Amino acid sequence: MSEARLLVVEDDEPIARPLCDTLRAHGYDVTWVTSANDAFVSAEAGVDLVLLDLGLPDLDGVEVCRRLRDRHPETDIIILTARRDEVDVVLGLDAGADDYLVKPFRLHELLARVRARLRRQPAEADVITADDVTVDTAARRVTVGSSEVELRPKEFDLLVLLVREAGRVVTRERIMSEVWDEHWFGSTKTLDIHVWALRRKLDRPDAASHISTARGVGYRFEAP
Ligand code: CA
Repeated sequence: MSEARLLVVEDDEPIARPLCDTLRAHGYDVTWVTSANDAFVSAEAGVDLVLLDLGLPDLDGVEVCRRLRDRHPETDIIILTARRDEVDVVLGLDAGADDYLVKPFRLHELLARVRARLRRQPAEADVITADDVTVDTAARRVTVGSSEVELRPKEFDLLVLLVREAGRVVTRERIMSEVWDEHWFGSTKTLDIHVWALRRKLDRPDAASHISTARGVGYRFEAP
């Protein structure tokens, strides 16, 4: 599996640090730069999404946005602006930004926007296989061995996340935030119920479960 590559272009360290930490904690491959010049250099290496502060020291953010859009038409750009002036947002969107957030923004709102943008990009692998389970993310079909299994939407999203990370524990917090699209406060009963449903649909009664519980931490899809 490959992580989405994010480029954070932000010269304000108190904003950039928690932002990058949060994104990394959610499994993204994050590069942080503080100037337009470094942004252009890093973007050449190939990134999936750019989080772009409009107030940079060396070049106007709208111009940075325009150049990134010209050179990397397939890369998503979300602009971050402290300016409440709508004109900046409009200029940024005209310059090719896909979305924007006005500072101060909540980190979970930013994560939701990032996920929404990345979902629109073609997945690197539409078909993921782990053990005898095959998930076709484009067709949203799941087979175990040769039999197709009917999953409800959240069961499917949960399975995709676990299978993409097969062999590794996915934390409850990450699952809650990625599958249920919200910050996690307290109860994860919903998650447990969905795992129970997945086990019932995927597991053979005479075999060990596909999904192991890492008690107090999360779940792991077993990939023998
Ligand atoms: Ca700035």
